[in-house]
Amino acid sequence: MVIGIVGLGLIGGSIALRLSEKYTVIGVEPCAETAAYALEHKIVSRVTDYAGLTGCDVVFVCAPIERTPDCMRRVYDAVGDRAIITDVASVKGILPALPGARVIGGHPMAGTEFSGIRAAKAHLFENAYYVLIRADETPADWETVAGLVRDLGAKPVAMTVQEHDRQVAEVSHMPHIVAYALAATPSDVTIAGTGFYDMTRIAHSDPQFWCSVIRRNKENTLQAVERVRARLDAMTDALTNDDGDVLQKLFAEGQAGRIRLEEDRPNLEEYVLSADIRDEVGALKSIGDLLASENINVCNLQIVHSREGEGGVLRLGFRTRGDCSRAAVLLKERGYL
Ligand code: NAP
Repeated sequence: MVIGIVGLGLIGGSIALRLSEKYTVIGVEPCAETAAYALEHKIVSRVTDYAGLTGCDVVFVCAPIERTPDCMRRVYDAVGDRAIITDVASVKGILPALPGARVIGGHPMAGTEFSGIRAAKAHLFENAYYVLIRADETPADWETVAGLVRDLGAKPVAMTVQEHDRQVAEVSHMPHIVAYALAATPSDVTIAGTGFYDMTRIAHSDPQFWCSVIRRNKENTLQAVERVRARLDAMTDALTNDDGDVLQKLFAEGQAGRIRLEEDRPNLEEYVLSADIRDEVGALKSIGDLLASENINVCNLQIVHSREGEGGVLRLGFRTRGDCSRAAVLLKERGYL
C-alpha cells in the first residue's frame, strides 16, 4: 500500500514513522524545515504537493483541526474516489460533506503535550483507543483503515460522529476545562501531593490547541460542564447545610463511578494488580526483574499514590489473564501483594 500523510506534525509524523516500517509513506507539508527533517530522518520517502498524492491507497489528513476541512477537500480534488481519505481531528462534527469521497473519519486517543515532528514517536498509539467513524455502507474501506490502526498498535473503536463528539466532551474536553480551572485556583500552596498533581496534569497541555478543539465541540462540552456544575452545586449545598448523609452519598456515587470506569474498559483488555512498593532505590527494578524472569509482559504501569517516605501502590496492567495470574503468584510469594 502507498500511504499519504498531509501535515507532518506530532500525529502525522508519528503515523508516518510507524507505517513506513511496512508501507511506502509520502507526505504533504507546507513547512520547508519540517519537510526537510522528515526526509532526513526517513520518516517519509517523499514530500510532494497534493497532486503527488495520486496513487495513494489511503491518505491521512493530520493538519491542525482548523485546517482539516480544507485539506480534506484538497485531497479529494487530487485523489477523487481512488483513495480512502481519513483524518485525525479531535472533533468529528467538523468533517466536510464530500459527496462521492471515500471518507473514514478517525481520532487517535493518544498524544502528548508537545507538538511538531520532533515530538513524533513510532509507538505513540500503542494500546490506545483509535475511534473510526462508522461506515456501514463501505465496510471494506472501514476495515482497511482499521487494519492500519492495528498496524499502529492501537485499538479501532467504531462510533458515529455524534457518539464520538459527546463522549470526548465528557472524557477529554470538559476535564481539560476543569483541570485548567483547578490549576489556576490555589494561590499559595506548598503541600500539593500526588492527588492534586493527578487532577491538574492535563492543564500542562497547549492552551491554544485546546481552545481550538473545544470551541469546535461547544454544545457537547457545555452540557458536560453543566453536569459537573450540578454535582458541585449539590455538594456545596450539602456542605453548606452540614448534611453529612447527602455529602457522603454524593461522594459514594463518585467512588462507584471511578470503580466502574476501571472495570468497564470494553476495548482495552487489561488485567490489573496493585502491588505494595517501598520508597527505596531499586524497588521498581526488583518487581520488573521478577516479572521479566518469568517472561511476563507488563503493558501498563502506574504509581497510584506515593506518600513521602512511606512507599506506594504500584498498579500493574497485563494483556492476558494468564500473565496476570502468574504475576499474582510471584508477587504474593515475595510479599508484594
Ligand atoms: P502539530 O504537531 O502542530 O502538526 C500539524 C502539522 O500540520 C504541522 O507540521 C503543520 O505545519 C502542518 N500544517 C499546518 N497547516 C497545514 C496545511 N494547511 N496543510 C498541511 N499541513 C499543515 O499538530 P498535531 O498535534 O499533530 O495535531 C494534528 C491533528 O491531530 C489535529 O487535528 C488534532 O486535533 C489531532 N490530534 C491531536 C492530538 C494531540 O495530542 N496533539 C491527539 C489526537 C488528535 P507547521 O508546523 O508549518 O504549522
